[in-house]
Amino acid sequence: MSTRLDGKVVLVTGASSGIGEAAALALSAEGARVAVGARRTDRLESLADKAPGEVLVLELDVTDQESVRSAVARTVERFGALDVLVNNAGVMLNGPVLGADTSEWTRMVETNLLGSMYTVHAALPHLLESKGTVLQISSTSGRIASANSGVYAATKFGITAFAESLRQEITAQGVRVVVVEPGFVATELMAHVKDPAMREMARKMAASMRTLQPEDIADAIVYAVTQPEHVAVNEILIRPTDQT
Ligand code: NDP
Repeated sequence: MSTRLDGKVVLVTGASSGIGEAAALALSAEGARVAVGARRTDRLESLADKAPGEVLVLELDVTDQESVRSAVARTVERFGALDVLVNNAGVMLNGPVLGADTSEWTRMVETNLLGSMYTVHAALPHLLESKGTVLQISSTSGRIASANSGVYAATKFGITAFAESLRQEITAQGVRVVVVEPGFVATELMAHVKDPAMREMARKMAASMRTLQPEDIADAIVYAVTQPEHVAVNEILIRPTDQT
């Protein structure tokens, strides 16, 4: 077993499925002690059973600031530090602007954008202490917006903007900020989309290509957080080869 993260403490948000789950397992396999947060704690318990290393299961709703503060506090209480934050929790509820259910916009902004900001806010004092790393999961939608994904793209553009501002504030203090921008990854992300036309579009898109797997993104995350201290991998854009 490789141990490039031996003794390091990582918090992964949205670890109950998809990219977050794969990242937690990959980081655990590298020797990290991993705190995993999400609302579906049954899924997190199964992850903890599978992981090779020590895992702390945290019930976490990133839209709730108190829940975020408590997750960070419990991580530090249990493991004594926080070295890496993988800010991954997110939802994608795509659809056209006209006639949209704006409660879905609120949910995306509160989860993807505010939720990741709250998590950085709570984790930052500990990351400054450990000279740690903030890794933000953005998206290709954080670089190029397309029809029917305006609000989701706005949240992901926002994550990138926030990350660059944060980087300028803290890089001199030894904290690294990484943005990972995946293209199409086969996960449960589309399962929450209500609009049947959007779901069909995503199904066709998935069928037209060899999609990325969550483990492909986990590999990129492990790469970014295992570099020597003087190397800051600030951005990783990773698409399926077949995705135009
Ligand atoms: P999944 O739906 O499989 O995972 C989303 C995760 O976010 C789940 O663990 C879910 O846990 C968690 N989550 C959602 N809302 C909350 C909340 N309020 N509080 C805490 N956790 C929450 O999708 P992915 O793995 O694909 O998504 C992970 C990230 O990757 C997202 O930020 C997404 O935008 C991004 N991404 C995904 C791409 C893809 O093609 N799949 C492409 C580019 C980026 P629970 O419901 O248990 O709380």
